Amino acid sequence: MADNVVVVGAGMAGLACAVRLRENGVPVRVLEASDGVGGRMRTDIVDGFRLDRGFQVFNTAYPEVHRILDLPSLQLRPFASGVVVYDRGRRERVMLPWRHPKYTLRTLFAGIGTPREKAALAAMTARDLAGPPSRIRAATERSTEDELRQWGISDTMLDKLLRPFLAAVLLERDLETSSRYFHLLWRSFASGTIGVPALGMGAVPAQLADRLPGGTISLETPVQEITGEGVRTVAGETIPARAVVVAADPTAAAALVPGIEAPAMRPVTTFYHVAPSSPLREPVQIIDAEGVVADTLVLTDAAPEYSPDGRALISTSVLGVHGDGDEPWVRDRLERIYGHTNGWRHLATYPVAEALPAMPPPLPLRRPVRMGRGRYVCGDHRDTGSIQGAMVSGRRAAQAVLDDLRAIDVRKRLRAMSKP
Ligand SMILES: Cc1cc2nc3c(=O)[nH]c(=O)nc-3n(C[C@H](O)[C@H](O)[C@H](O)COP(=O)(O)OP(=O)(O)OC[C@H]3O[C@@H](n4cnc5c(N)ncnc54)[C@H](O)[C@@H]3O)c2cc1C
Repeated sequence: MADNVVVVGAGMAGLACAVRLRENGVPVRVLEASDGVGGRMRTDIVDGFRLDRGFQVFNTAYPEVHRILDLPSLQLRPFASGVVVYDRGRRERVMLPWRHPKYTLRTLFAGIGTPREKAALAAMTARDLAGPPSRIRAATERSTEDELRQWGISDTMLDKLLRPFLAAVLLERDLETSSRYFHLLWRSFASGTIGVPALGMGAVPAQLADRLPGGTISLETPVQEITGEGVRTVAGETIPARAVVVAADPTAAAALVPGIEAPAMRPVTTFYHVAPSSPLREPVQIIDAEGVVADTLVLTDAAPEYSPDGRALISTSVLGVHGDGDEPWVRDRLERIYGHTNGWRHLATYPVAEALPAMPPPLPLRRPVRMGRGRYVCGDHRDTGSIQGAMVSGRRAAQAVLDDLRAIDVRKRLRAMSKP
């Protein structure tokens, strides 16, 4: 009988699961459909520039980061804790006062809401920071927009600040995402540092993959089917396994595992431009109050390592799926936001049709990872649509496998002892 566990998919969830299993002495094989590890967190090198496959950020407040990753070796390049709001030709700066005290007055007087709304936002933030996450998890659930209105935040602040900011994070402008997920996210933004690893977001899964013994991961090995004995690959190979963990993306997982419902997925497109020098000289995200683009950032102002030669790399994300043909209007918007785009070159466009699972209420913050005898599932769709959710789900699936394997071994030993 096979003694190894097969993990299908080498994204953050599958890698986190495989690392836990290996640490507990369980032999693992990871089968990955694509030509590299990382899933939705990969970094390409194009003309020497590091291009994440869709702009995303790493947050040090994610609890799982401290459980499984070696944070210092990621060399996080932080962004400013706050945003610049671009609104009809004006730029307003909204910074977390406890991180950037020198901007406190500017933030207080920014035209992004009434004093009452600002006080409400401060009260909500304080409450999210003060309580344990379990309080947020247990709270009544509604849409994020209803929740913000409940807190006394109305159209001015919603439309000028919170909707554009959250659209860039949740990849939806209607703010229909679960309020419980919103508060967890808000808490992590208020307490953590966000940024990118010096070598790109792909460095995060690469760190986990490096902890697995050589030969553990088989790339370009898509799994066709989960069988009674293990898995069958698209190439027709049958790989027996003691247990199978499906760590594929939500849509692929739903196709492989009966009983998994594919969530709706949110799309986003990132446009990368190269400029002779930074148009901003500050690592701060600019959000677009009118929603033409979602956000834009001079990535190299935070992480100079993203450029081979000191030129600036600008990342701009737009909700939905777009192609190179949309670059002219994106560029037009960037010209307004940054003041000019002289000498800029469009380097690449990354449309990501399935970036994040939609998380409307009611949102179970933990879905089961056991799917039958010897069958498990993990991935961001089992927890929350985030790097944190993917890693937690991997840990939970590994724990379920370990518990079940131990129980089987105990039963076997007892049977052997009871034989005359
Ligand atoms: C553009 C973008 C922006 C984001 N922004 C953020 C952010 O700012 N903060 C945040 O926390 N999260 C963000 N996320 C979400 C985060 O990246 C994901 O939640 C997380 O990476 C999901 O990891 P996963 O392992 O669950 O799934 P995936 O990364 O999708 O991994 C699944 C893996 O399974 C493989 N696979 C699929 N089918 C098969 C098969 N049949 N056989 C073998 N292998 C298979 C796939 O190739 C893939 O490698 C963003 C995502 C994107 C795309």
